[in-house]
Amino acid sequence: MTESQKVTMRIIVVGAGVIGIATAYELAVDGHAVTVLDKSAAACEEASFANGGLVAPSMLLPFAFPVETGNVIKRFLGTGLRLTRRPWRSLHEIKSLWRWTRANGHDKREGRIISGQALGRFSAERLQHIVEIFQMEIERSEGQLVLLRTEQALQHLELTLEALKSQGIACKTLSPEEARKQEPSLHAEPPFHAALWLPGDQVANCRQFALELKAITQKMGVKFQFGAEVQELSLQPRPSLTVANAQGTEVISADHVVLCTGQAPLHLLVKHPLHIPMVALHGYALSVAVREPLNAPRSAVHDIHDDLTINRLGNRIRVSAGAELGHKPTMKDEKVVNAMYRALDRYFPGAANYPAGTQVWHGTRHTIVDGLPAIGESGLTHLSLNIGHGACGWTWACGSARMLADQVSGQPSALTTTPFLPTRFLR
Ligand SMILES: Cc1cc2nc3c(=O)[nH]c(=O)nc-3n(C[C@H](O)[C@H](O)[C@H](O)COP(=O)(O)OP(=O)(O)OC[C@H]3O[C@@H](n4cnc5c(N)ncnc54)[C@H](O)[C@@H]3O)c2cc1C
Repeated sequence: MTESQKVTMRIIVVGAGVIGIATAYELAVDGHAVTVLDKSAAACEEASFANGGLVAPSMLLPFAFPVETGNVIKRFLGTGLRLTRRPWRSLHEIKSLWRWTRANGHDKREGRIISGQALGRFSAERLQHIVEIFQMEIERSEGQLVLLRTEQALQHLELTLEALKSQGIACKTLSPEEARKQEPSLHAEPPFHAALWLPGDQVANCRQFALELKAITQKMGVKFQFGAEVQELSLQPRPSLTVANAQGTEVISADHVVLCTGQAPLHLLVKHPLHIPMVALHGYALSVAVREPLNAPRSAVHDIHDDLTINRLGNRIRVSAGAELGHKPTMKDEKVVNAMYRALDRYFPGAANYPAGTQVWHGTRHTIVDGLPAIGESGLTHLSLNIGHGACGWTWACGSARMLADQVSGQPSALTTTPFLPTRFLR
């Protein structure tokens, strides 16, 4: 398509998390006039606020997929036991767990991991491109070290390792001594059997990147409205959105709408033939200032047994852990919060400066049951989606945004779009 053939549109993006901001940027690059609406008072107030920071094309991220071994019952029980709040006490949680586990049988899982890795790699390239062209100075470090306590844990990763190989993603199995060369401050005490070293994974500050990209998009002409909750969406004959804001209610029209709302907003999709089955997995992140850099992690350390990551973000360390299904509890789970402090002190004693202040954040991974996000045309004219990135939203953000913009702008995509199309859920 030549420059003169490009059709430019007035596009409303709903949601100013990392996905909405990256999407607005890519649509503006293609020449569209973009307005972003968000119900919060500022950008990145929900899932993109303080996530673990791992950009991991390897897909070795906690809770990206349910437990993989055994038949559906074994996987169901195994995943339930891995969750930090047991899901057996409410029918809603049991149903969510069942849906998530049933959708992830062996037959489909490998293909999805490969699709997720391909999107992760594409995304990392796009992130690098954006960081370079705008000379962004965001907190970043390279590599992920995955600690494996037993030989059995290594064997459990067989499928993932095969997928890594088939995708050409570098991964080296290390002895504990070799692992400590990658992360010299890792304490000698906690024993582990082996580690995986993934040099292509990285840690980067998601919120810092998104806020910088927001400022860049504003200079490109993208408009942002905060405190603007989209309450109704009508698509025919042209899209119009009923938006509640401080002034009352207003109707905003556009040529096209992109929902980047994290979860599938059922109240907006109520009359539409799309049913996207999702589970909400709540988790925690502890941020602490570094006291002594020599004692702190260099990049990402992932205790796969406890589904916990300890990552370096500039002058801070961020520990992320925990998974609770269903409705978000109002109280934080002290058991998980204490486990995060203990893990940090066990793996990196003396690294944290607790008196300088700590932050414990409780966020939600909105996950589509098959583990892949919904990116692209919704099956309804004038409406596209970029939602459901679950545990991998930062990893997939820049690639998902480019893939979405290519579809909206009628351009070929660098990746196969089929596994991600929202229309896989058309009723
Ligand atoms: C504990 C934890 C750790 C994580 N660690 C990692 C990690 O290490 N690596 C990784 O890749 N991912 C990680 N994730 C996942 C990642 O944070 C998310 O997938 C990602 O932030 C999702 O971004 P988003 O923009 O889709 O959603 P959000 O950031 O939630 O943004 C959605 C926005 O839509 C707005 N919105 C919703 N409905 C409406 C409406 N009707 N009208 C107007 N606005 C609306 C909301 O206000 C919100 O601002 C983690 C998540 C959690 C919870």
